[in-house]
Amino acid sequence: MSRFGVFQALVPPLCVVCRSNCDRAMSLCPRCMGELNRAPAIRRSPPPGVTGVVSCAPHEGVARALLVRFKFGRLTGLAPLIAGYMADQIVSGAPDLLMVPVPPAPGRRLWRGFDPAGELAAEIVRGNPGWRLAGDLLVRSDPGSQRGRGRATRLAAPPSIEPSGVFTAVRAVTLVDDVLTTGATLAACAAALARAGSGPVSAVTFTRRL
Ligand SMILES: [Zn+2]
Repeated sequence: MSRFGVFQALVPPLCVVCRSNCDRAMSLCPRCMGELNRAPAIRRSPPPGVTGVVSCAPHEGVARALLVRFKFGRLTGLAPLIAGYMADQIVSGAPDLLMVPVPPAPGRRLWRGFDPAGELAAEIVRGNPGWRLAGDLLVRSDPGSQRGRGRATRLAAPPSIEPSGVFTAVRAVTLVDDVLTTGATLAACAAALARAGSGPVSAVTFTRRL
């Protein structure tokens, strides 16, 4: 065991949200895990062009804190935990479902060092044989991020998203994103997929701002 390994073994693991002690195999303490498990999934008001949308929890409390640690704390090791909750919410009769992450704004991936939606989509697919990942199917060309824009501005100026290819057969698609705010980005993605000849487009996000 390396010196770092010995150090790790001596220090009790801490909950990534509240920093209290937790089981070594878990990232959350029992209290935070309980709160996350009790959070109500939200399945209403899909954006235009999206047949159904589900979010695992409102964008608050433990769910929001977990997402912040993942995205801005760059704790990529949380991806399997978050993606597991998302996969549990996907209801589909399509055995060959195609997972398409919402593309990050240009430059954002470089700035942040990784692509949260892409990581989550890859994890969802990893845990569900038969589902496929299409990580580069959508290309985003708007210069800015939606983050920090007002709701009215976001709705008036949706991101510019285009398909990078066309579907040769009708495929059901599930869009994957970390958080749903206005739905303008999901609607833009769904429109791009429709132009490329996709089948029905649904969406899953970890949280939803209410
Ligand atoms: Zn905790």
